[in-house]
Amino acid sequence: MAERHLLLAGGGHAHVEVLRRLAARPLAGWRITLLTRERHSPYSGMLPGVAAGLYHPEQALIDTRALAARAGAALVIDSVEGLDPGARRLHRASGDPIAYDLLSIDTGATPDVSRLPGAAEHALPLKPIDALLPRLQGLDAEVRPGQAVALIGGGAAGFEMSLAMAARLGPRKVRIVLVAGESGLLPGVPAVLRRRAAAALAARGVALHEGANVSEVTEGALRFEERPALAADVVLLATGASPAEWLARSGLVRDGRGFLLVEPTLQAVGQPAIFAAGDVASLLPEPAPKAGVFAVRQGPVLAENLRAAAEGRPLATYTPQQDWLVLLSLGDGHALGTRNGLVFGGRWVWWWKDWIDRRFMARYQAAG
Ligand SMILES: Cc1cc2nc3c(=O)[nH]c(=O)nc-3n(C[C@H](O)[C@H](O)[C@H](O)COP(=O)(O)OP(=O)(O)OC[C@H]3O[C@@H](n4cnc5c(N)ncnc54)[C@H](O)[C@@H]3O)c2cc1C
Repeated sequence: MAERHLLLAGGGHAHVEVLRRLAARPLAGWRITLLTRERHSPYSGMLPGVAAGLYHPEQALIDTRALAARAGAALVIDSVEGLDPGARRLHRASGDPIAYDLLSIDTGATPDVSRLPGAAEHALPLKPIDALLPRLQGLDAEVRPGQAVALIGGGAAGFEMSLAMAARLGPRKVRIVLVAGESGLLPGVPAVLRRRAAAALAARGVALHEGANVSEVTEGALRFEERPALAADVVLLATGASPAEWLARSGLVRDGRGFLLVEPTLQAVGQPAIFAAGDVASLLPEPAPKAGVFAVRQGPVLAENLRAAAEGRPLATYTPQQDWLVLLSLGDGHALGTRNGLVFGGRWVWWWKDWIDRRFMARYQAAG
């Protein structure tokens, strides 16, 4: 039988695990391609540590070329621009469409700059994370003492990045503001953790602004409907995720926000030859949060289901965990965390987080 083609679109957290497993156990009779935008896939858990100067950037980057080579996969550096599920072809920015027999999508999501007036012109989204590091280096040269850097978004990414900015720019007398908006700081975590998080911000000189959403970003300021404006020379956006535009033209079934609806098998609804995982996907019957931990946990199920689909065997189902370990870096070698309602913090929590993150990275950086 002619060799068939498994196409992996995006080098996200689930696909690096698919490649690792393919390296350990090749898929007979199948050719594999990884098409992704950047040669290096950033590991989100360590990015605030990179921003704070606790890690070198390369410690948080997975080399997809080496990983693909170990899995016997071809690497194509390009950007997905569209899909024709009927013809089983993926369209890309530069080059002919790529035909596939099985497609898996793990291309992530980006903050939505379209819903906040002025954000597209005056704010830097934290995603795509592969573009964040050069942006941070630009900031070092740009900001001066007395200026203010504002983070919009009170979730884990905004919280950790505001503290990373405090560690990076605080010594240069740059003011850091975290604007957590109406949903407040770290929605969904235990109240004790929220209180400790607010105290950690105050102790590190980060001003917390809660209770009102930004209505407009202008040059040098954040505006609110019923509150005075806040000075902000640099604005970083860590608000909720939005789907890539090409998904709307793909003909695939999407949820109300535009993310790909997937069955518990991680198959796109009505499309047995298309799988999706991570932030790009919206799981049925209950969507999982858009967080790296879920993309990571979907990796093994995705890997096994791609193999099962290729070999014509029944598929397994993915059930999201109901409780998970949350570890938040405070930017200075301390961390806060929660699991099963327990809240903890201190230097040892940072050591624990550091150990988990380094161990994760080592799986994908192994030489050979
Ligand atoms: C600063 C920051 C810190 C965070 N910290 C945490 C944390 O501590 N814990 C946690 O659980 N979550 C964290 N998150 C959230 C986390 O980053 C995401 O939930 C996670 O990255 C989603 O993984 P993914 O596999 O869906 O996609 P991603 O990790 O975003 O990977 C997508 C991949 O696809 C590629 N790609 C994207 N578009 C295209 C395209 N059109 N064509 C080809 N390739 C494409 C990208 O280059 C990338 O390789 C953080 C986010 C940020 C911004």
